[in-house]
Amino acid sequence: MIRKLLRKVFRRAGSASPQQPALIPVEQHGIRRDQLSQAACKVCSVLQENGHAAYIVGGAVRDLLTGHTPKDHDVATSATPEEVRALFRRSRIIGRRFKIVHVMSGRETIEVSTFRACHDDDTAETDEHGRVLRDNAYGNQAEDATRRDFTVNALYYDPGRETIIDYHHGVADLRQKTLRMIGDPRARYREDPVRMLRAVRFGAKLDLAIDPAARNPIREMSSLLENVPAARLFDEMLKLLCSGHAVKCLKELRAEGLHHGLLPLLDVILEQPLGERFVWLALENTDERVRQGKSVSPGFLFATLLWHEVLADWEARKGKGEPAQPALFEAMDGVLEAQSRKLAITRRIAGDIKEIWALQPRFDKRNGKAPWRLIENPAYRAAWDFLRLRAQSGEIAMELVDWWQHFAHAGPDERERLLAAAPAAGASPRKRRRRRKPGGREQNGERQASPSVAGGNEGI
Ligand code: ATP
Ligand code: MG
Repeated sequence: MIRKLLRKVFRRAGSASPQQPALIPVEQHGIRRDQLSQAACKVCSVLQENGHAAYIVGGAVRDLLTGHTPKDHDVATSATPEEVRALFRRSRIIGRRFKIVHVMSGRETIEVSTFRACHDDDTAETDEHGRVLRDNAYGNQAEDATRRDFTVNALYYDPGRETIIDYHHGVADLRQKTLRMIGDPRARYREDPVRMLRAVRFGAKLDLAIDPAARNPIREMSSLLENVPAARLFDEMLKLLCSGHAVKCLKELRAEGLHHGLLPLLDVILEQPLGERFVWLALENTDERVRQGKSVSPGFLFATLLWHEVLADWEARKGKGEPAQPALFEAMDGVLEAQSRKLAITRRIAGDIKEIWALQPRFDKRNGKAPWRLIENPAYRAAWDFLRLRAQSGEIAMELVDWWQHFAHAGPDERERLLAAAPAAGASPRKRRRRRKPGGREQNGERQASPSVAGGNEGI
């Protein structure tokens, strides 16, 4: 009876589409409303009470169906952005390309978007390659579903009824572990080339095979990514790198030819021989942190990814006789500048990156007041973690890392003793290591890089 009624409602709402959605009851999909964010459920109920259709859509539904914890919650509604804004005190309209409303509830932000119409040449503004620049034409739910990228992302959950509305067989695709594009993949990539990166990310994160129809055009269309604004690419790369599956994603990007010449960062990550070990180690660490539910600092991550670029330039400058500290700053600025042409690293994150890099030479100074000051620096912990990665990758001796760990946790007397026993300033472990005779040992006993570094990264 309810089903019949719903069908009737949807037939009316979805009259532009010949397609009838599948209504999947909770007995079949198993998602209870209390598994979703209470804030998102509340947003839906407020909208519904005010006569609008409203559903939780996208990543949260998909993630719960695959046993993942949703990262954030998106709501799709028949209400216009202005109508949504008027219903929630703590809300604001954002976006130019696509207007959406951010509704704040406690510490959560729910992204509320209005059902979109299907593209047609009259409503969407595109660039010369067909990329949609701006489109705020609203439509009904069926059209909205057709506008979404992958079938698994076009699932609408009604928290009131605990029902999933599925227009494009997304639930079946999830069961069959397939990532399928809605519509013609070539046309969808032309509209928005970032969908190629999203395909790789969702495939890796959800362990889905990208349907050949969506996979095949990627290689030949990859150059379209060049026209995507740097800020958008940065957002997408950040999502990819913080997905908990960065290693898998980057291997996939390389396999699809999506990295070459497109994003300088990816060239750096995937094609530099020198820092390869360091970068993969950093990515493995990040993935592990994400999987353990720990926070990941984008500044730290990008600092690791770009470090060997900086290091190479820094060494070259020092080789030409430039003083160490200014040479480091020149190298840092040069590397960030080269990246920012394609990938808009935000100013705040760039500040965090520089802070970590700039502290690295200060670990070499182990006398006087400098070490006391360094451990009080708010960025000390991040800088020390970075130092440890450098040691684990074999760039510097682990002895230096251990010394600082000791020093930071010791009492005043022990600290004085450590300072007295430390090598003189400027005698960095790297320099000493170069001079070491075969079979010789470090003063404090050099530790081998961790086993995961020694054997873990081949074949990537
Ligand atoms: P996650 O939040 O885990 O990154 P998500 O699928 O929720 O995944 P969002 O970027 O939050 O991704 O977008 C929410 C929904 O909006 C998607 O599930 C999809 O339906 C739609 N969407 C987002 N980006 C695009 C795009 N580029 N093209 C078409 N639809 C999109
Ligand atoms: Mg989302």
